[in-house]
Amino acid sequence: MENSQYEQRRRAVAAALPERKLDCLLVAFSPNLRYLSGFTGSNGALLILPGRSILFTDPRYKTQAAQESTCKIRVSKGPLVLDLLATLSKAGVKRIGYEPARMTCDTFESIKSRLPLRASLEPVTGWIEELRMVKSAAELVLIRQSVETNSRAFEQTIARIKPGIRERDLAAELEYRMRRLGAEKPSFETIVAAGVRSALPHAQPTAARLTPGDLVVVDMGAFQDGYASDMTRMLSVGAPNAKVKRMYRAVREAQLAAIDAVRPGVTTVSVDAAARRVLAGYGLDHCFIHSTGHGLGLEIHEPPRLGKRDRHRLRPGMAITIEPGAYIEGFGGVRVEDTVVVTETGCEVLTSTPKDLHIV
Ligand code: ZN
Ligand code: ZN
Repeated sequence: MENSQYEQRRRAVAAALPERKLDCLLVAFSPNLRYLSGFTGSNGALLILPGRSILFTDPRYKTQAAQESTCKIRVSKGPLVLDLLATLSKAGVKRIGYEPARMTCDTFESIKSRLPLRASLEPVTGWIEELRMVKSAAELVLIRQSVETNSRAFEQTIARIKPGIRERDLAAELEYRMRRLGAEKPSFETIVAAGVRSALPHAQPTAARLTPGDLVVVDMGAFQDGYASDMTRMLSVGAPNAKVKRMYRAVREAQLAAIDAVRPGVTTVSVDAAARRVLAGYGLDHCFIHSTGHGLGLEIHEPPRLGKRDRHRLRPGMAITIEPGAYIEGFGGVRVEDTVVVTETGCEVLTSTPKDLHIV
């Protein structure tokens, strides 16, 4: 990503400080820190002041921080918080914005107890996350690449596996392929769940083997150049029976209906409702026990959420998943998930992997 993009983001935040009645903003949550500075290290804090930004980190990241970011860099030998407070005190700031949802009580207390006289910590909720919802063209290039890697890893793996493979070996193979294709790591723990376990929406892979008659949910995603992808596809070990086929048809139809509903200006709840309506037609709406999707980017789950109670309006450039499912305890579950991006006129499905039930 171009450094100018980070500088532009910091300028926009700095320019909006007065209207939020803040003198500065403190950002330490890693995805927000990366979004505003380019810094990817595990220990850092960014202070955005009008006209300048300072990135605090420790000696392990001295070289990396200078390579990744054009911020002024302060390397602290001890706790970052002490240098941070010294800077706050020297700058004479009074109202310090911080992200309560993203800071431990420990850090909060240690800053609060040492604040300069008349300075106060002011909670800021969801500001940077709001900015992150709409992706730039450069970010969409990275998401597209991550989605492509994820799909290739799935397709290469599925072409090679045979019934009898263990769930966890299949998960390991998918993650290995992903990395060989350019991902840094999976964007979450890969889900492979066969048979009745497919009815658990967030199952962890076990030593169980894929056996004929199993319905298998594979939910996987990559982080590539920091950006997430997310996809769910279903496998059937041998030919599926009539009940499975019907359930699969229902979920796929619900997924297509939700994708159809995605366009700028519509609320996230209306996209969710489109999926639920189709499932209701099959008598399966009570089996759909999670939301229809979520935003993704520097995090695998980020705003907006597409659930029953979410009323965000979709805007061009938002990257979201569409993933309805149906789960029947003691029988099995089906979920189909794509990564899509909202465009000026509707949406583009980035996931290219065919949506059929894959027979192995
Ligand atoms: Zn997923
Ligand atoms: Zn997802």
